Amino acid sequence: MHIAALIVAAGRGTRAGGDIPKQWQDLRGAPVLAHALAAFDGHVQTTVVVLHPDDHALWEATGLSADLVVTGGATRDASVRAGLEAMQDRGIDHVLIHDAARPLVPATVISDVIAALADHPGAAPALAVTDALWTGTEGTVTGSRDRDGLFRAQTPQGFHFDAILAAHRGGSGPFADDVAAARAAGVEVAMVQGFERNLKITGPDDLARAAQLMGQRMDIRLGNGYDVHRFGPGDHVWLCGVKVPHDRSLQGHSDADVGMHAVTDAIYGALGMGDIGQHFPPSDPQWKGAASHIFLEHAVALAAKHGFGISNVDCTLICEFPKIGPHQHAMKAAMAQIMGLTQDRISVKATTSERLGFTGRGEGIASIATATLVKT
Ligand code: MG
Repeated sequence: MHIAALIVAAGRGTRAGGDIPKQWQDLRGAPVLAHALAAFDGHVQTTVVVLHPDDHALWEATGLSADLVVTGGATRDASVRAGLEAMQDRGIDHVLIHDAARPLVPATVISDVIAALADHPGAAPALAVTDALWTGTEGTVTGSRDRDGLFRAQTPQGFHFDAILAAHRGGSGPFADDVAAARAAGVEVAMVQGFERNLKITGPDDLARAAQLMGQRMDIRLGNGYDVHRFGPGDHVWLCGVKVPHDRSLQGHSDADVGMHAVTDAIYGALGMGDIGQHFPPSDPQWKGAASHIFLEHAVALAAKHGFGISNVDCTLICEFPKIGPHQHAMKAAMAQIMGLTQDRISVKATTSERLGFTGRGEGIASIATATLVKT
């Protein structure tokens, strides 16, 4: 099943305030359109964006990408039609037509629309009207309307591709939306559950409300790391980026900084992206004796690349000797600098294991770490 998303971003609406249309305005660090487009990641195989002829430079400036970028027409109907025409001959079975001004569409709405298309030629999210409905004129209520059977329409509105293309080709709009175009052509449209958070950015308050709703959906990831290195001959150990004098050294392929390795693995773990051994294979001679800040810097950069900031890390070193206390502050400072964080976000603790086990017998040092990442 080949499913495509058609994002309609050709409108000129500036009711949301500002000098540029609402789909280009900033919502928590990215244009509204970027959020709408990203919502379809993992749901569709093809993405199509319809732009106003004047907006191609704005699109280029975003650095976003889509499989097809199409220039829209003078009306919404014409823009949707232009998008659909450009999508022909690509083997697309189903198309989800979505307003660029709905940046917070929940994943469940998209999957519900897709699921409904298995049994219906059209499907779209709807919210039952719960407020009383009035008529009014010149500031006075003149009557009321029965709200039973009334729904508020949302997007994405999904259709079997051939059916909606035929509906737009044969239709004589203007249509309120694509469901109206489909119904005019006799295409049955099923309703799936809509959500309040799938709001359409129209007025100036909507941007602020969307930003607030996004804040309530913080994406927080937690990862853990564990590492052990054995003692061998030497006169110092590297722990959390600090050279600590000792009567033995930790053995390992790199500098054997067991604390920094645990922290690094905690970050990889939070990202769900492997571990040090995968990113820096011990079989590769270039990492022999490597300073471990290379690994930690890589993990931090990988997190940033995927839109995550590191909120905090907590690292515990488990050993009888050397004594960690005198070096704790320097370790926090070293790791804070490598990670580009303030020291209040770094914790380095130490414990003995009551002379039990390999750490208790002084055969090596173990470390565990936790990292919290927050989508920025
Ligand atoms: Mg290690």
